[in-house]
Amino acid sequence: MSIAELFKKKQTVYSFEIFPPKKDSPIDTIYNTLDQLEGLHPDYISVTYGAGGNPADKTTIDISSIVKDKFNITPLAHLTCINNSREDISEILGQLKERGIDNILALRGDFRPDIPPKTDFRYASELVEYIIKQGGFHVSGACYPHGHPEGENMIDDIHNLRKKVDAGAEHLVSQLFFDNSVFYSFVERARIAGINVPIGAGIMPVTSKKQIERMVSLTAASLPVKFTKIISRYEHNPEALRDAGIAYAVDQIVDLISNGVQGIHLYTMNNPLVARRITQAISSLIAD
Ligand code: FAD
Repeated sequence: MSIAELFKKKQTVYSFEIFPPKKDSPIDTIYNTLDQLEGLHPDYISVTYGAGGNPADKTTIDISSIVKDKFNITPLAHLTCINNSREDISEILGQLKERGIDNILALRGDFRPDIPPKTDFRYASELVEYIIKQGGFHVSGACYPHGHPEGENMIDDIHNLRKKVDAGAEHLVSQLFFDNSVFYSFVERARIAGINVPIGAGIMPVTSKKQIERMVSLTAASLPVKFTKIISRYEHNPEALRDAGIAYAVDQIVDLISNGVQGIHLYTMNNPLVARRITQAISSLIAD
């Protein structure tokens, strides 16, 4: 079933993001994560695509297959074009089709100083257009409540997002954010710009100090005072930081659902314990 169809069936679509195990860990380690996530009944699970975008790396496809065939959950396979030529993408699409994986999160990917980018697709919207032309796929795209870090301003960013939707993206997943008002303003601007596809809110529970710096660079924005207070108070107490991070995420989700947000996309960081605690806390809110 397409992700967009899921949004027609449910008031709040609840989904997880996982990433392939690190290079030196066998792919089987993902079974343990999925075994535990399955019981939490997400509506779909998205699987990230390696930041290097190596076309020979099949782990995203393999894990998406496992999600679909062994766990009976709809997979959303991420795919980036920054380090893939048209031929590479065409080959990957063939493999996805063979495995019956028809939902793709089409992304440009980040520039890496050590890998010269391929130039067949400059932006995600061009990848979306290409995938749609091949037929048989449903395409989702990424969006940025704080604006994309490379963007000059929010107006251009929304304008470019509209191009992605016009190219055929049926659904959007947001970058993480910690201030719900930023997300609400973003959705309002998107709707004014005529972007009418479902938008899932990306929520990342902060559970360790290590995550925090990376998150700040991703959101390209200052953090709410309530959030920074948690960090400064508990940064040297991992257990308390994890509990506070979970509580903060639950609080964010309750507010988002109460405000009619269509989807909650939890960045699980392959941590089923955290996903379980959050899911248990909100289970009756996402039941229909
Ligand atoms: P685009 O939509 O192409 O946007 C990139 C920039 O170009 C923006 O500033 C945009 O405004 C601008 N732009 C777009 N179109 C035009 C145009 N026509 N003219 C001028 N400017 C334009 N990375 C990975 O490597 N693997 C993953 O699995 C992965 N998963 C992600 C999942 C989510 C939900 C999100 C939010 C991000 C993910 N990323 C992933 C990171 C992503 O690849 C980077 O944020 C990347 O820098 C941008 O990708 P994009 O698809 O949003 O690009």
